[in-house]
Amino acid sequence: MTATKHFIGGESREGSGETLSNVNPANGKPIGEITVGTRDDVDAAVDAARRAFDDGWSESSGSERRKLMLRLASLIAEEAQTLAQLSTDDMGMPIGFSWGEALFAAEYLEYFAGWADKITGDVVPVPAPNVLDYTLREPVGVVGAIIPWNAPISITMFKLAPALAAGNTIVLKPSELATRGPLRIAELAARAGFPPGVLNCVTGSGAGTGAALVAHPGVDKISFTGGTETGRLIAASAGRDLKRISLELGGKSANIVCADADLDAAAAGACAAVFVMSGQQCIAGSRLLVERAVYDEFMGRVSVAARGYVVGDPLQMTTQLGPLVSQRQLDRVLAYVAEARDGATITLGGERLGGDLADGFFVGPTIVTGARNDMKVAREEIFGPVVAAIPFDSLDEAVAIANDSPYGLAGAVWTNDLSKAHTVARRIKAGTIWVNSYLAINPGAPFGGFKASGIGREGGKHALDVYTETKNVYVQLR
Ligand code: NDP
Repeated sequence: MTATKHFIGGESREGSGETLSNVNPANGKPIGEITVGTRDDVDAAVDAARRAFDDGWSESSGSERRKLMLRLASLIAEEAQTLAQLSTDDMGMPIGFSWGEALFAAEYLEYFAGWADKITGDVVPVPAPNVLDYTLREPVGVVGAIIPWNAPISITMFKLAPALAAGNTIVLKPSELATRGPLRIAELAARAGFPPGVLNCVTGSGAGTGAALVAHPGVDKISFTGGTETGRLIAASAGRDLKRISLELGGKSANIVCADADLDAAAAGACAAVFVMSGQQCIAGSRLLVERAVYDEFMGRVSVAARGYVVGDPLQMTTQLGPLVSQRQLDRVLAYVAEARDGATITLGGERLGGDLADGFFVGPTIVTGARNDMKVAREEIFGPVVAAIPFDSLDEAVAIANDSPYGLAGAVWTNDLSKAHTVARRIKAGTIWVNSYLAINPGAPFGGFKASGIGREGGKHALDVYTETKNVYVQLR
């Protein structure tokens, strides 16, 4: 099987290092080899990105960038099916979702194309005569973008779209578990007409290739999405050179259901919050806080809705839950469930599925009832289809439980009482709060974490802040 090549300076390049082999998580069969980028490969990619930055891209006009970005968005939309197939084979996301993800990535890019020629500074009032004081927004430079495997196409775009709009150049390092989709996007960018070196992709491992990119002195900024522990390592390494960083990390989000909510809608929402993508989502609503007065009735409805999920071959359009990404992830999820049995009750799922699915890494919707917030199942990010249900007696208690977490990525409240909805939204310490909804992500809205869930925001005009430097110009007029 031929290994992937890097994409550097506008062309595919053989790597100089070893390769890693991957299996399809739905059936355990080999799907290909990934080239592991060496320090030399990272050097070549950073050099190409620097040359492209200095040779004109950083001073390109916003309208030129907008046109290129719109062209790339069209190519991604045209190739959505191929990109979806690559993600599904690599990491097991059901094809309906991976297709939607690719189309969403195209929309996300279109949204930021609209910003490319609208990044402006300010004129600053000065308490003195004959002075003009204004600001300029300039691209940061060469951005190292490191992404995880769980939503490879859309997370690639969460980085590329604002970075390109602002005039940066990029070296992308996808996860070794989902490389081929992001690599294809780099190839499509060349076809769209981006100058060589504006978007490069070096494939490989995190500890080797990723760490070399973070430590590279030619990189001005690291934009990272992944686990909180990796985020800490990256922040420490990048901090040595005072590189700019933005970090999108893990979560353990609380989904609060009040007794007055539309319980059927809330039950469907609670399942989608944690079972979609087999719970392999940073925003998963993995702590389900339910008002005690309706706890039993509500959990009954959740159980009925969860049993309706179609688990199986991710290539079927009707499949809602595919496999977990790897044997390692399967072992990890099952270990959390085993530990939860000591003190809580597993009322659904929690086991590896057999039969036709026995060769893949499948776990169905898993419900843990009678959990307490101090249990591991409620404190740590599992990244599997496992929800820990915890009863509460008052809104104050629900908010206290929600905030009693090292994380602060997202949360939700289900209620028909407007006052409760806004009160909870204000009091939860997290970057995104949904009311009577879950999972929706809007390209124009800020997205990111409080506390151990990250630093900085993606989405909307907020993302442009982390991909630009602001310069002040003070002019003494005669
Ligand atoms: P990891 O942190 O293991 O990996 C993320 C990326 O970092 C991968 O490309 C990985 O490469 C790379 N990497 C690993 N170690 C290093 C290192 N020392 N230096 C540089 N790069 C490194 O996370 P996962 O891929 O397992 O993704 C799951 C995590 O991502 C979850 O915690 C999830 O919550 C978080 N996430 C956060 C989101 C957010 O927006 N807040 C969105 C989606 C996911 P490789 O895989 O090749 O080892």
